[in-house]
Amino acid sequence: MMAFRSALSTKALGQTFLRSATVRCKATATDPATNPLAAGISFEISDEQREYQEVARKFAREEIIPKAPEYDKSGEYPMDIIKKAWEIGLMNTHIPEDCGGPGLGILDACIVTEELAYGCTGVQTAIEANSLGQMPVIIAGSAEQKKKYLGRMTEAPLMCAYGVTEPGAGSDVAGLKTKAVKKGDEYVINGNKMWITNGGHANWYFVLARTDPDPKTSTGKAFTGFIVDRDTPGLTPGRKEWNMGQRASDTRGITFEDVVVPKENVLGSEGMGFKIAMGAFDKTRPPVAAGAVGLAQRALDEATKYSMERKTMGRYICEHQAVAFILADMAIGIEASRLLTYRSSWMIDQGQRNTYFASIAKAYAADVANKAATDAVQVFGGNGFNSEYPVEKLMRDAKIYQIYEGTAQIQRHIIARELLTKAKEMM
Ligand SMILES: Cc1cc2nc3c(=O)[nH]c(=O)nc-3n(C[C@H](O)[C@H](O)[C@H](O)COP(=O)(O)OP(=O)(O)OC[C@H]3O[C@@H](n4cnc5c(N)ncnc54)[C@H](O)[C@@H]3O)c2cc1C
Repeated sequence: MMAFRSALSTKALGQTFLRSATVRCKATATDPATNPLAAGISFEISDEQREYQEVARKFAREEIIPKAPEYDKSGEYPMDIIKKAWEIGLMNTHIPEDCGGPGLGILDACIVTEELAYGCTGVQTAIEANSLGQMPVIIAGSAEQKKKYLGRMTEAPLMCAYGVTEPGAGSDVAGLKTKAVKKGDEYVINGNKMWITNGGHANWYFVLARTDPDPKTSTGKAFTGFIVDRDTPGLTPGRKEWNMGQRASDTRGITFEDVVVPKENVLGSEGMGFKIAMGAFDKTRPPVAAGAVGLAQRALDEATKYSMERKTMGRYICEHQAVAFILADMAIGIEASRLLTYRSSWMIDQGQRNTYFASIAKAYAADVANKAATDAVQVFGGNGFNSEYPVEKLMRDAKIYQIYEGTAQIQRHIIARELLTKAKEMM
């Protein structure tokens, strides 16, 4: 964690940001004469945030983009890139300061994530999955659990994973079958997880398991969240799945056969698991949206450049209005999804409930990324369909944004539920 962290002390990074965000938040309510931001909403990011952005942008250009095509082809895990990202402080940005991390906000994370995703969303997803695995510990872990499991990630470039989905239960989290049975001071876990990002490289896993076998017990009380060390006997990661896109990221099934976990590794208390697992998404969906924005921006930049080099009918193709309008539509979607991403992350950083906006940002940015990547292929014509050019990878990589961390349909389900609840309250 050298260059990035030595430029600004890690403690200073988080604290300065929080101060500047607070100023922006309060500004709207005060007098414009005494507060220059009071006249309206500020869309400026702070100087510190601009600094993280520049470091992440340079890293993506120099370390990720040149290597991404090879990782896409081989499916090899990009550990060399991850180690460098860790060294300069581009990973684990929200680990609290008292656990040795920088304790940055979600908006900070989004700014960094967008840049990394611009380089390669497979690499970005591998990095971002650490945040997803860590978030249940951040929101519900005891001081000891945080020090032990988050602390070690600031001392070495370790990975972790979020283990909720199963072969028979993705959107239907309440239908998951993995069981944990209490025996004395321990729990014994049996079951199968599926599609676990970082599954083969994690040092530890967040695992959601059913602890109350009574089918009548409410979802909010039937499940418990555990931290499970990778080297626990009976825990076996499966083969790396060969996915459509984001191939640098590692996705696997995990088998649990009589995996014994001490009661000290229960997060919160028994029965709180579902709430903890779902609560993490308010903090992780904005960065997923930011990843989609990064991919869409890359698609626009590649398409713009190509359209200014390729000629048909005696003109550069960007001079055909039909092509220029494709670029304009891409820009409209990207600007809007970036603002939604910033808003949803800013809200949670302010301690406001952001479930509605986090789902809107995630759903919209995912759709925009898919459209932008498809449009970029269109602008490239036949070359766009070929793997020698960068945009077919973007199209393959984009699809997962409409699936993981809640599908496009599940986001709309959440948005509708949130707005209808509000509407009923107002009736
Ligand atoms: C590459 C990758 C990485 C992943 N990483 C992780 C990870 O790290 N950790 C983890 O726990 N999981 C992870 N997942 C799992 C991911 O979150 C699930 O795949 C996703 O939630 C969808 O679940 P499913 O695959 O079971 O599809 P299903 O739930 O079976 O859904 C199938 C289709 O039906 C729709 N559908 C389902 N229910 C409804 C409904 N009630 N209303 C409307 N439509 C509905 C869905 O939107 C979808 O279109 C990952 C998945 C992939 C592919």
